[in-house]
Amino acid sequence: MSHEVVVIEGDGIGREVVPAAIEVLEALPVGFEFVEAEAGDATKESTGEALPAETYELAADADATLFGAAGETAADVILPLREAVDSFVNVRPAKAYPGVDALRPETDVVFLRENTEGVYSGHEDRLSDDLSTLTRVVTSSASRELAEYACEFVGDGRGPAGDSEEGFTVAHKANVMRETDGRFREEVLAVAEERGVDADEELMDAFATKLPLDPTQYGVIVCPNLAGDVLSDLAAGLVGGLGLLPSANVGHDNALFEPVHGTAPDIAGEGIANPTAAVLSAAMLVEYLGHVEEGRRVRDAVEGVLSDGPRTGDLGGDATTDEVTAAIVDRL
Ligand code: ATP
Ligand code: MG
Repeated sequence: MSHEVVVIEGDGIGREVVPAAIEVLEALPVGFEFVEAEAGDATKESTGEALPAETYELAADADATLFGAAGETAADVILPLREAVDSFVNVRPAKAYPGVDALRPETDVVFLRENTEGVYSGHEDRLSDDLSTLTRVVTSSASRELAEYACEFVGDGRGPAGDSEEGFTVAHKANVMRETDGRFREEVLAVAEERGVDADEELMDAFATKLPLDPTQYGVIVCPNLAGDVLSDLAAGLVGGLGLLPSANVGHDNALFEPVHGTAPDIAGEGIANPTAAVLSAAMLVEYLGHVEEGRRVRDAVEGVLSDGPRTGDLGGDATTDEVTAAIVDRL
């Protein structure tokens, strides 16, 4: 059986790192049918639309999508694409690797961020010349769905510790936002209890201090939308290098995978972008499609190359994207 994977390179270094990731996927004993689709700044210039309906439909109907990056049109592309795959959780691992300079080399955490509501639900109003408001939406159903995912995630040993006994931490601000975060907290903890999964909690401000001081205290962290956005970026700062961080937007029977970095206009077109984040996003895609062992092999190959080289310029080396990709494929 082959998996239909929609491939959207987008703009800038998306056009370099996504082909690198595809090369790695093609080295695996897994059947893929890659379907190329267009989106981003260049697409808007040529067609008038950053995200053509055809691309949206392809992503919605595929088994999974691999996305690179989009420039100024990023929000017009990625927000609808997340909707196309019906994504309710954003998965953001932040792991430091031997051989890569990191503020906190012992960091190994995974954020599971609510991906549909909170303050990003889009309900903003300008009520007068002086007053603007934002409606924060939290539902029990979305909170529980995220928590169910978190329980499965740790239960399958997919947390950093690989240990299903480890449980997760829920970060929130329910002491102030008693109604919205109160509901979120209550539902998430209730699901953990029902499922027999260990869950502890942190106030998100305290967490923002404790994480950089000692990241080893944490493994899987479950957050509302905005908190997850900010806190996962904080964790990214601990591990050194935007070129390393993958992410997944997971839905009910579809998902979209993308590096955390953008189009990197300063180095685009030079063939020197670090393909690691895109390759690790592809590894998450492989695991999502059920090939857990192959995903692990890709990650091991990436780790080997990060530790022994070759390395791209962002990591202090002078290798090209192609050289790093070839080294990863060699190890596979
Ligand atoms: P965009 O406008 O698309 O968000 P940006 O420049 O604001 O682009 P990023 O693309 O995330 O943001 O890049 C931030 C910095 O990190 C840039 O200096 C870029 O060169 C560097 N960078 C990001 N990704 C990579 C990568 N894969 N390899 C090497 N350097 C990278
Ligand atoms: Mg940017």
